[in-house]
Amino acid sequence: MPKRIVIIGCGVSGTTAAFHARKTDRTAKIVLLGDEALPEYSRCGLPYAFSHVVPSLEALIGYDEAFYEQMNRIDLRLGWKTTRILVEKQTIEAIGSKDALTETLEYDTLILTTGARAAVVPVPGADLKGVFTIRTMNDIQRLTDHLIENNARRVAVIGAGLTGSEMAEALLQRGMTVLEAEIIPEILPAILDPDMASIIRTRAEEHGVEYHLNSTLEEIVGRNGRVSGVRISGEEHAVDAVIVRTQGLFSGNQAASRPTSGWRLPHQTCMRREIA
Ligand SMILES: Cc1cc2nc3c(=O)[nH]c(=O)nc-3n(C[C@H](O)[C@H](O)[C@H](O)COP(=O)(O)OP(=O)(O)OC[C@H]3O[C@@H](n4cnc5c(N)ncnc54)[C@H](O)[C@@H]3O)c2cc1C
Repeated sequence: MPKRIVIIGCGVSGTTAAFHARKTDRTAKIVLLGDEALPEYSRCGLPYAFSHVVPSLEALIGYDEAFYEQMNRIDLRLGWKTTRILVEKQTIEAIGSKDALTETLEYDTLILTTGARAAVVPVPGADLKGVFTIRTMNDIQRLTDHLIENNARRVAVIGAGLTGSEMAEALLQRGMTVLEAEIIPEILPAILDPDMASIIRTRAEEHGVEYHLNSTLEEIVGRNGRVSGVRISGEEHAVDAVIVRTQGLFSGNQAASRPTSGWRLPHQTCMRREIA
């Protein structure tokens, strides 16, 4: 009987695992489940699709569905969220976003590639409309819609790491003014020493980024349920949206360290609409 390989998570790790599994086992039945609506895409390119340096979000997609299904005989299930792993029965349960039906799949080998989720810093106002994290195409689409619908002019980026800095640049390219707050004294702390980072910060300042270093986000201020400002180290600044990149990431599968029967995967929102 062909081996049954189930892979949960259709990011770059899941896709790579599926293609390698096919290379090493020509007969295996491979199922690749992802809770987003599109096949694997480059998350690294999201800020550049937002700024239109990359022409569209779809241009970030690695392979079309036919490449998985016809060229590699991978059963690709998009919009399928795995909700439960029953280790003793060697089965998983997954729910499809189209018909909300739960299906049980049996496996001989299970590969978890559920990646990470962006985390929002727990400050007052974090649940207001206009607060965004950047992790998925859906996040970029929602941010774009919000900026257009609210005729936004000014955006706060909280956290001056790589993604925050890329988003600050992208926002400038989209005609916004940008305020960027960082809790430590210099930008890009994970990848550059302060002397190198200060060169980049100076260039960004010349292009219009307003930095608040050594500064803590204390509150996201709202009016009628929507972002109207941020309070950073005691000072309030008017903004139309906030992008939060401070708290790092949660594991996409927080239960991964607890392999028990009836193992439940955490809630993640399915991407319910295609990117226009
Ligand atoms: C804006 C941005 C810029 C980046 N820039 C860079 C860069 O320049 N260089 C670099 O090296 N890295 C960069 N990264 C990081 C890089 O994108 C990640 O390291 C990479 O995406 C990890 O891939 P992954 O497949 O392990 O996980 P992920 O990409 O997180 O994919 C996991 C997938 O599993 C799905 N999933 C989770 N739970 C379930 C479930 N229960 N059922 C079904 N599906 C589920 C998720 O929705 C997701 O689609 C960037 C990331 C972002 C967000």
